[in-house]
This record gives sequence, C-alpha cells and structure tokens, in this order.
Amino acid sequence: MTWQNWAGTASADPARRYWPRSTEEIAEAVLAAAEAGLTVRALGSGHSFSPAAVTSGAALDLSGWNGIVAADLESGLVTVRSGTTIRELNAALSILGLAMPNLGDIDAQTISGAISTGTHGTGARHGGLATAVAGLDLVLADGSVISCSADKNPDLFAAAAVSLGALGVISTVTLACVPAFTLAADERPMRLDEVLARFDEFAAGNEHFEFFWFPYGKNALLKRNNRIAGPGSAGAPRPMPSWRRFVEYEVMENAAFGALCRTGRRAPRLIKPLNKLAAATLSKRAYSGSSHEVFVTPRRVRFVESEYAVPIQDVLGVLAELRAGVARLADPVMFPVEVRVAAADDVWLSTGYGRENAYVAIHQYVGLPYQEYFRLFESIVTAAGGRPHWGKMHTRDADYFREVYPRFTDFLRVRDEMDPGRRFANPYLERVFGV
Ligand SMILES: Cc1cc2nc3c(=O)[nH]c(=O)nc-3n(C[C@H](O)[C@H](O)[C@H](O)COP(=O)(O)OP(=O)(O)OC[C@H]3O[C@@H](n4cnc5c(N)ncnc54)[C@H](O)[C@@H]3O)c2cc1C
Repeated sequence: MTWQNWAGTASADPARRYWPRSTEEIAEAVLAAAEAGLTVRALGSGHSFSPAAVTSGAALDLSGWNGIVAADLESGLVTVRSGTTIRELNAALSILGLAMPNLGDIDAQTISGAISTGTHGTGARHGGLATAVAGLDLVLADGSVISCSADKNPDLFAAAAVSLGALGVISTVTLACVPAFTLAADERPMRLDEVLARFDEFAAGNEHFEFFWFPYGKNALLKRNNRIAGPGSAGAPRPMPSWRRFVEYEVMENAAFGALCRTGRRAPRLIKPLNKLAAATLSKRAYSGSSHEVFVTPRRVRFVESEYAVPIQDVLGVLAELRAGVARLADPVMFPVEVRVAAADDVWLSTGYGRENAYVAIHQYVGLPYQEYFRLFESIVTAAGGRPHWGKMHTRDADYFREVYPRFTDFLRVRDEMDPGRRFANPYLERVFGV
C-alpha cells in the first residue's frame, strides 16, 4: 500500500514494512533490511510536508512502540518509546502531574518525528521540543544500541536530537518535563501595523506569543499564552465552555474556514474578498486550561506549508518585503501567515542553534497554486540567512546549510561515524546533507 503524508506532498512505496514493538525488534528489522540490501526509514505520523520520511527501502512503523518506560517525578525526567504521539504523551504526563515545557500547534506527531525535524512552539524564552530532550537511545546500522546525553557521548547527543533519522532509529527518548501548569490564553484581533510596531514588547512580555495575519487583510490575530501564578502553579482553570470551543475552533477555524477555502479554490477571483471576510470574523477569546489543551488546536483543513527561522532582529524587514510581494502575486493566497519566536539553543541542526529567531510560516490551501508564493518567500528569507524547518517545504541543499549552520560539518562527521554505509539514507537526506 502506498504511504502518503498528511498534506499529500510526499508518497512512497516501501519495498518492506516492519512493525517493531521493542528495541530488539527494531534492531532485527534494521538487520533484515540490511541483509536484503535495503535502506531504512522510521515512520512518524506522516505530518512532515517535506519528503523526510519517504523510502523505497524498509519502512519501520513504530505506532505499536509507544507509551512511557520510566518516570522520575522528582527530576521530571520521563523516558518514552519513540512511536508515542504527543497526544498520548500529554495524556500520560497529565496523570503524572507533569507537562512538556512548550508545544507546537498540534499533537498528532510522534515524539521522535517531532524532535527529528526540529518541531517548535513559540516563546522568546523557550527552545523547540528537542531542547527538552535529556537523552536518547538509538539503534544503529549494525543493530547495536547506543545511548547519548549531555554527559554520555555528548557529540552524538548534540547531533542526534534533530537529525532526520540520519544517524539511526530512535528507540527511546528521555524528556525533561516540568510540573503541570495552567495557561491563560488571550486571543484578539489587532491591526497588523500595531502588532508589528509592538513586536518586541509582545515577544519579551509574554511567555508564548504569536500572531496570524491574513494576506490582504489589515487585521492580525494576536495570541498570548501566559502561566497563571508562576512556574509550577496548577492555577485555577477557566476553560472555554465546550459549546463555545466547538463553535470557535471546529466551526470557525475548521468547518467554516474549510468552506471558504473550497469556495476560493473553485473561484480564485473570490480569494481576496474571502480572505478579508475570514479576517473580519476573528474574535476575542480569553480562557485558561491545562497547558497542552491551550497549546494545541485542531487542524482539519489541509494545506501546504513552508517555514523559515530568521534572526529575530530581521523579522520586521522580512514581513515588510513579504507584504509588498504578496500583493503582486498572480495567484492569490488563501491561508494566513503565522509568526512565532524562540530562544537560542545548542542542538547542532536545530533552527535555533546559536541565535534567537522569529519563525515565519506561510501556507496555501491544498489544490491551489503555491509555487510562485513559496519562491517569493524563500528568496526573502534566505537573503536574511533563514533556516528552513526540516519538516516543511523548501528547496535548500547541503551547500546552503553549510553556510547557515556553524556545526553542519560536525554533524556530517558524526553521521559518517554512525552510518558510514548510509543505511538510513533517502533522497531528501541526499539533498540536505549531500551525497
Ligand atoms: C497540521 C500540522 C501542524 C503542524 N504544526 C507544527 C508546529 O506547530 N510546529 C512545528 O515546528 N512543526 C509543525 N508541524 C510539522 C511537524 O511537527 C513535523 O513535520 C514533524 O516532524 C512531524 O512528526 P511526525 O511524527 O509526523 O514525523 P514524520 O513526518 O513521519 O517524520 C519526520 C522525520 O522523522 C524521522 N523519524 C520518525 N521517527 C523516527 C525514529 N524513531 N527514529 C529516527 N527518525 C525518526 C522520519 O524518518 C522523518 O525523517 C505541523 C505539521 C502539520 C501537518
């Protein structure tokens, strides 16, 4: 059966499939694939827009290798099996009174797929999900298992947390979790010009800040999530009533927005007015709840996406160029632009390596032309030294990454040590790491 990713931008027909349910079975699958002369790819939940998970060799479906292996409530260190989805992880952590310090927009990804591509949320004092990794166990090409952490095999650790499955198959991930906390969400429409003028204030003054902006509209949706009563507080949640949550998120953001998108796809000349209509329906919402319930929202309308991390001081210039360029596109854009922020980190291939970033993500509804828009975007963000999200669409190759990642050559050295025969190769890795 053909494998396809969520967005329909990548598909594959693996020669063999394996469903390992233990570290030993992962090792056996890797060795059996090697015996048959096949390359190996671990599958997450297929939520990358880039062809990162594509293979014509052996595909390892880890959906049966999930759940918590060990948890230390004192230190917050929790070890999970690599096929665990973030949704499963959040549910299990919640029972333990723990939480991930930060999350992205959805929870459908596996923990290993998410860290392997540098998945992130927002917050000027927070790194991406890989910065919560305290240790990893990897199955290598010869079937052996190697552990790494900041103290044990530190170079491998710095390389492995964001490594696109290029070094081996992650078997378990140890995460540094925090005590469960309550987030207060404040979401409101605001003039885009005001959001941009106060960008630094919003980024510095909120734990988690982001905004969405519909091209052609003058309004943005500003989202700010802050802890209630400090770190570790369980706070007093004021959840949004379930009927309102249904109307706001399922109806307005998914069903009604999906209907607008379908209308736009049938009649592209209506896209600009529909876009303005969507922006005009943005409403103020204030509620609070468990952190993972506030971070995560349902995303049922399918889209294609590209996202780059740019140095935070360059983001206003990047957005000004994008705003001017979008107005000149032949094919109109149906989806909003999303802007987030993140702290610097020390994971070699993390978009956050050594610098504070703003993330600019552009989207287009599936089935609408996106190539001209994405080309325009890429020309602007690469001029600013942008680093593409490894799991989203981009056209960069190894020569570019050598320039924008100071430890790129070190990563390639570790890859040569861990996988000299390129058992874990695929065409995407050949492009981004070189042949
Ligand atoms: C609707 C939607 C919303 C999204 N929101 C965000 C967001 O808010 N923030 C953000 O940063 N990104 C976001 N993304 C992107 C997404 O988080 C990443 O692409 C992520 O990698 C997907 O995880 P996955 O489990 O689907 O992995 P896959 O896409 O299946 O795989 C990704 C990579 O990980 C490798 N891999 C998987 N498991 C293992 C393993 N056990 N060992 C070694 N390698 C492995 C695969 O081989 C592949 O190279 C979003 C994507 C979608 C579709």
